[in-house]
Amino acid sequence: EERVVSSERSMEDSPESSLRPLALEEFIGQKQVRENLRIFVEATKVRGDAMDHVLFYGPPGLGKTTLAQIVARELGVGFRATSGPVIAKAGDLAALLTNLQAHDVLFIDEIHRLNPAIEEVLYPAMEDFQLDLIIGEGPAARSVRIDLPPFTLVGATTRSGLITTPLRDRFGIPLRMNFYEVDELEEIVTRGARIMDMEMTSDGAHEIAKRARGTPRVAGRLLRRVRDFAMVAGVSPVDAACADGALNRLEVDHRGLDEMDRRYLKCICDNYGGGPVGVETMAAALSEQRDTIEEVIEPYLIQQGLLMRTPRGRMLSEMAYRHLGLEAPKGREA
Ligand code: ADP
Repeated sequence: EERVVSSERSMEDSPESSLRPLALEEFIGQKQVRENLRIFVEATKVRGDAMDHVLFYGPPGLGKTTLAQIVARELGVGFRATSGPVIAKAGDLAALLTNLQAHDVLFIDEIHRLNPAIEEVLYPAMEDFQLDLIIGEGPAARSVRIDLPPFTLVGATTRSGLITTPLRDRFGIPLRMNFYEVDELEEIVTRGARIMDMEMTSDGAHEIAKRARGTPRVAGRLLRRVRDFAMVAGVSPVDAACADGALNRLEVDHRGLDEMDRRYLKCICDNYGGGPVGVETMAAALSEQRDTIEEVIEPYLIQQGLLMRTPRGRMLSEMAYRHLGLEAPKGREA
């Protein structure tokens, strides 16, 4: 079942590419990341070599892929994209690397999901632009060394703790992406509406921004749903009341929480007395993957102060009880 507030990429997002900013100047938010990249891009252009390898980490939908593309564009080099789980064999990675032009950007999404044997192939490629491959099997097997063009690897991962230390150490430029502020998302929504030729008041954009979970991908998706709703209802410009009506229908509440989030919070409240409860228990109780819970559901609830991660497990905050319209039990220690 698809969640309209999901920050994970889905088929429905193919129109999102039209909303992608193409230059660092156009990219809204993530000021520090942007400023860092600006400096590295300029320095690289002066030196005329390949830019150092970049690792983006942060929740899905915050613009990691978009920034990787922008970096390639600003450098004036080619861009290739793949993802960790897609690279099944060392040969797949070798084919990708040997097809690069000098200074190109190779983007590997979900780099923490690379198979360990393939990760080993990546080390000398990143460090010395060399590929060590074993050709043949048994006694006839021999190893060959192939020189690669100097390139820039841009890796993306949802949490830095998921990638191995030797891999992490090979990225010269680690950059952390954070959830966006409401005013930044409002700018992103306004820009999206303009690209989609949609009339919208600033209140309307603000209403969508507030409920977009700090995530541009979610903002884009909510914007498209609100547009459909406004079109059918014949409302233009889209104002706060129209956006509110559409989002209520989608069961996205004023904090951007949906049915799944509320089910998660209510489960801790009703079944585990507000916590602490372990993530494995929650995964079983909700029939969800542990990864989905940790990477998609929890980060936003934690950022909103609704959920706390403690050494003994997850706990609801007072605010979570208020959000659910319930009374917090007395004498809980947070
Ligand atoms: P990630 O790789 O982190 O999952 P993406 O780069 O695919 O995220 O971004 C998801 C979508 O959100 C993009 O297609 C783009 O439309 C939009 N987006 C992301 N960051 C921004 C931004 N700063 N400004 C405007 N739109 C953005």
